[in-house]
Amino acid sequence: MLQSWKIGDFRVWSIVEYFGPTHDPEFLYPEFDRAKFQAAAAQFPPGHYYPPIDRLVVTIQTWLLEAGDRRILIDTGVGNMKARPAARMLRLNTLWPAWFTATGQDFGTITDVVMTHMHSDHVGWNTVLNGERWVPTFPNARYHFPQADYDYFKGKRDAGEPVDAGSFADSVEPVVEAGLANFITDQSEICDCLRVEAATGHTPGQLNYWIESGGETGVFSADIMHHIAQIYCPEWNTAFCILPDEAKKTRAAFLAEAARTGAMVMPCHFAPPHTGFVRRQDDGFAFEPAPSHYGVTA
Ligand SMILES: [Zn+2]
Repeated sequence: MLQSWKIGDFRVWSIVEYFGPTHDPEFLYPEFDRAKFQAAAAQFPPGHYYPPIDRLVVTIQTWLLEAGDRRILIDTGVGNMKARPAARMLRLNTLWPAWFTATGQDFGTITDVVMTHMHSDHVGWNTVLNGERWVPTFPNARYHFPQADYDYFKGKRDAGEPVDAGSFADSVEPVVEAGLANFITDQSEICDCLRVEAATGHTPGQLNYWIESGGETGVFSADIMHHIAQIYCPEWNTAFCILPDEAKKTRAAFLAEAARTGAMVMPCHFAPPHTGFVRRQDDGFAFEPAPSHYGVTA
């Protein structure tokens, strides 16, 4: 279901590719502790965890930001027809394009495509198949890649290592070859509205993007957390965090800042409603989901 929210004069849309009870918490979190998890899970809002199968609900989605004349996508999911080793990501044929156009946009109206980092579940819709070739999906957009992530994944590819299930080759390189790529280095703002903040750890070059309008704040928070469990247990990295110590420091600092600012937090992977607020609770933090909103007036 398509949802959108207002942040001041801006509007953000959640465009879901899929979500489901897919993740075994003990697999996702190598430092998992069952007693701590049960205490946290007792506070989860409905729909984030299913005890009978012991699975966390994880979403794959894209955020669309309407800010002035800009139409900005933040991360682009897995994509259709991509050859990926995980069964739930293998040659998808989802309705993502239909949900995307239901926002009133088409592929030609997108001005910017912004990556938080370059894992395969964040770059997929960068490209679509044209015959046998992968070509950029959004022909009029600038695609903004974190330079440090690009360098890291390109270094692996140049060394002959498999890079994120082939996503670098089919979802990043065609964009660079088409001349549509911009590399984010140390600038403090992009797209006239996104404040760039380093969020190193999950990947070497991961970035957060903060927005502010009309006194309200939001943040696209990438994969600092995969699930609200990490708001209650921030010391848990996922099995996919490349720099574990950095990831923990980044998460701790982020939670404090999110609570201080009251920002609407927009990660990639939270279960519906996919966004919410971090609140101080005793010595730690708690999650307050944003109101679900399926209309366009909130
Ligand atoms: Zn991810």
